[in-house]
Amino acid sequence: MHSTRNSSTYRGRFAPSPTGLLHAGSLVAALASWLDARAYGGKWLVRIEDVDTPRCVPGTDQLILQQLAACGLQPDEPPVWQSQRTALYQRALDQLVARGMAYACACSRKDIEAALAQSGHSKPRNGELVYPGTCREGLHGKPARAWRFRTSNLVSNQAPAPVEYAQVATENIASSKSEVWWTDRRLGLQQQDVERDVGDFVLLRADGLFAYQLAVVVDDAQQGITHVVRGEDLADNTARQILLQRALHLPTPQYLHTPLVLGPNGEKLSKQNGASPVDTSTPDAAFAALCQAAAALDLLPAAGTPADALALWTRQWGDRYSL
Ligand code: GLU
Repeated sequence: MHSTRNSSTYRGRFAPSPTGLLHAGSLVAALASWLDARAYGGKWLVRIEDVDTPRCVPGTDQLILQQLAACGLQPDEPPVWQSQRTALYQRALDQLVARGMAYACACSRKDIEAALAQSGHSKPRNGELVYPGTCREGLHGKPARAWRFRTSNLVSNQAPAPVEYAQVATENIASSKSEVWWTDRRLGLQQQDVERDVGDFVLLRADGLFAYQLAVVVDDAQQGITHVVRGEDLADNTARQILLQRALHLPTPQYLHTPLVLGPNGEKLSKQNGASPVDTSTPDAAFAALCQAAAALDLLPAAGTPADALALWTRQWGDRYSL
């Protein structure tokens, strides 16, 4: 199904976690999502993803908003904070529980490691253990720690979505209910069997915090996001998010994952490996940072003012990535 939407319905977002200031890599995702929204006459929103409160650094949210503003990237609506939206996430979890699509889990990481070792499947994938399904059929008398999404059996690929933004016609070729096919606007056709590759994933963590996967799906839908543009490090989450959208009867946005910025050691830049914050302390510094982000996206070198540069990049972006 190809898109028939018009650009006035386009809603995109940048969703930084306030665990540190924007670095060169996160500015690339910010710029790319802004350019995509501008290229298609859409709205660009900023959502502060502070759901994982222990990892957040107080005050960073405002500093990120200032960094964006210094680069000329102004959200079209007031930003929202995930920490103020837990009632929405709870409601979604309640729905999944009521439909038998989420279940309580008593397993600690140690329990999961032991169960995997016993079944000879102890190899973690991207550092994450594939949940072996221990509590699928019940807690065996143990106290609940977390809530997990049931990746198979109950999720129908034919779940009636109220609006279908994505041209995921290919989803019909899914051979198992936990196998997801989707088309990334940059990476092309993608596939993941979530049950096999990830397992039943966490929705509400043992520390009482909602997991990123649930919060992002609820928020993208609640904010009417039609297009998600974000770093390629997040591409692997997309299949999980699409399964959750189907389970909650929410629309699936279109996805575009941008190239990652690598540090001198060849590793992806991240706050965790000490990437330095983007300097936006003067207009010249902010423009230089923006030009660096544009170069990482393989856009033409800018000529003229920042506004001229953004206009040039917007045209180039629109020529490169169709909706
Ligand atoms: N908050 C996530 C991050 O900073 C981004 C989530 C998303 O764009 O879906 O990595």
